[in-house]
Amino acid sequence: MSLDITGERYSRLIAIRYVGIRNGHNFWLFRCDCGTEKQIDLSRVRRGDTRSCGCLGREMRHRKHPPRQRNNTSTEWIIDENGNLSRTIGEP
Ligand SMILES: [Zn+2]
Repeated sequence: MSLDITGERYSRLIAIRYVGIRNGHNFWLFRCDCGTEKQIDLSRVRRGDTRSCGCLGREMRHRKHPPRQRNNTSTEWIIDENGNLSRTIGEP
Protein backbone atom coordinates (compact mmCIF):
# COMPACT_ATOMS: atom_id res chain seq x y z
CA MET A 1 0.00 0.00 0.00
CA SER A 2 1.41 3.33 -1.04
CA LEU A 3 -1.03 5.62 0.63
CA ASP A 4 -2.11 5.86 4.25
CA ILE A 5 -5.34 7.75 4.58
CA THR A 6 -6.38 6.40 7.97
CA GLY A 7 -8.65 8.89 9.67
CA GLU A 8 -9.10 11.03 6.60
CA ARG A 9 -12.56 12.19 5.71
CA TYR A 10 -14.05 12.08 2.25
CA SER A 11 -17.47 13.66 2.36
CA ARG A 12 -19.43 11.34 4.68
CA LEU A 13 -16.76 8.65 4.75
CA ILE A 14 -13.88 8.32 7.19
CA ALA A 15 -11.10 5.89 6.34
CA ILE A 16 -10.64 3.26 9.07
CA ARG A 17 -8.13 0.78 7.72
CA TYR A 18 -6.67 -0.66 4.58
CA VAL A 19 -8.40 -3.84 3.46
CA GLY A 20 -6.42 -5.01 0.44
CA ILE A 21 -6.34 -5.15 -3.30
CA ARG A 22 -9.34 -6.50 -5.15
CA ASN A 23 -9.52 -6.57 -8.92
CA GLY A 24 -6.46 -4.36 -9.00
CA HIS A 25 -8.02 -1.71 -6.78
CA ASN A 26 -7.07 -0.65 -3.27
CA PHE A 27 -10.00 -1.19 -0.96
CA TRP A 28 -10.35 0.57 2.37
CA LEU A 29 -12.81 0.13 5.17
CA PHE A 30 -14.74 3.35 5.60
CA ARG A 31 -17.20 4.43 8.24
CA CYS A 32 -20.05 6.56 7.03
CA ASP A 33 -21.59 9.36 9.10
CA CYS A 34 -24.71 7.21 9.43
CA GLY A 35 -22.63 4.56 11.24
CA THR A 36 -22.40 2.01 8.45
CA GLU A 37 -18.98 0.51 7.76
CA LYS A 38 -18.26 -0.47 4.21
CA GLN A 39 -15.30 -1.58 2.12
CA ILE A 40 -14.95 0.77 -0.82
CA ASP A 41 -12.53 1.19 -3.71
CA LEU A 42 -10.25 4.05 -2.65
CA SER A 43 -9.92 5.47 -6.15
CA ARG A 44 -13.69 5.89 -6.34
CA VAL A 45 -13.73 7.74 -3.03
CA ARG A 46 -10.85 9.99 -4.01
CA ARG A 47 -12.49 10.84 -7.33
CA GLY A 48 -15.69 11.71 -5.47
CA ASP A 49 -17.67 8.95 -7.16
CA THR A 50 -18.47 7.45 -3.78
CA ARG A 51 -19.31 9.85 -1.00
CA SER A 52 -21.27 7.69 1.41
CA CYS A 53 -22.13 4.09 2.19
CA GLY A 54 -25.08 4.57 -0.11
CA CYS A 55 -27.31 6.44 2.33
CA LEU A 56 -26.60 9.75 0.58
CA GLY A 57 -28.04 8.49 -2.68
CA ARG A 58 -31.05 7.08 -0.89
CA GLU A 59 -31.68 10.43 0.82
CA MET A 60 -31.33 12.36 -2.42
CA ARG A 61 -33.77 10.07 -4.20
CA HIS A 62 -36.14 10.49 -1.28
CA ARG A 63 -35.82 14.28 -1.39
CA LYS A 64 -36.63 14.25 -5.09
CA HIS A 65 -40.09 12.92 -4.38
CA PRO A 66 -41.28 14.62 -1.21
CA PRO A 67 -44.56 13.53 0.26
CA ARG A 68 -47.36 15.46 -1.34
CA GLN A 69 -48.70 18.02 1.07
CA ARG A 70 -52.37 18.65 1.48
CA ASN A 71 -53.44 21.94 0.06
CA ASN A 72 -55.29 23.60 2.87
CA THR A 73 -56.38 26.77 1.14
CA SER A 74 -60.02 27.73 1.45
CA THR A 75 -60.45 27.59 -2.29
CA GLU A 76 -62.27 24.68 -3.88
CA TRP A 77 -62.78 24.07 -7.53
CA ILE A 78 -65.87 22.50 -8.99
CA ILE A 79 -67.09 21.75 -12.47
CA ASP A 80 -70.34 23.57 -13.02
CA GLU A 81 -73.23 22.37 -15.12
CA ASN A 82 -71.66 23.92 -18.26
CA GLY A 83 -68.45 21.98 -17.79
CA ASN A 84 -66.52 25.03 -16.71
CA LEU A 85 -64.11 25.01 -13.82
CA SER A 86 -65.28 27.50 -11.24
CA ARG A 87 -64.24 28.52 -7.80
CA THR A 88 -66.78 28.30 -5.04
CA ILE A 89 -64.96 29.62 -2.04
CA GLY A 90 -62.38 32.37 -1.72
CA GLU A 91 -63.66 34.42 -4.65
CA PRO A 92 -63.06 38.11 -3.99
ZN1 LIG B 1 -24.20 6.14 5.31
